[in-house]
Amino acid sequence: MLIPCFACESRFRPDEYFRACHDYRRGMDLVAWTCPRCGNQDELRVLPGELGFGYSQRGRFAICDRVRVPGLRRRRQDLWLDISLDSEVWRVSSRPRQLVGAH
Ligand SMILES: [Zn+2]
Repeated sequence: MLIPCFACESRFRPDEYFRACHDYRRGMDLVAWTCPRCGNQDELRVLPGELGFGYSQRGRFAICDRVRVPGLRRRRQDLWLDISLDSEVWRVSSRPRQLVGAH
């Protein structure tokens, strides 16, 4: 099971891929992902059994591409998202709340 970067077409093992996730946006239910190879930044939604890629539009996230990741699970928390696959768990923290609208 390898997960691709849509920009450079590198493929990553789940551990490498999910460790590159950051900044969980709970309101939109999205995580940011920065490609360790090319630095491309993407946003994606973690869904049971798959990842959803797309674009944000008028406050909604439209999914265009799905990558199946059999066994993928997620648990939404207030301050982070736990992504789990088999026996591994990756925790993606939210953006710090005090920074929201602080400019
Ligand atoms: Zn890339």
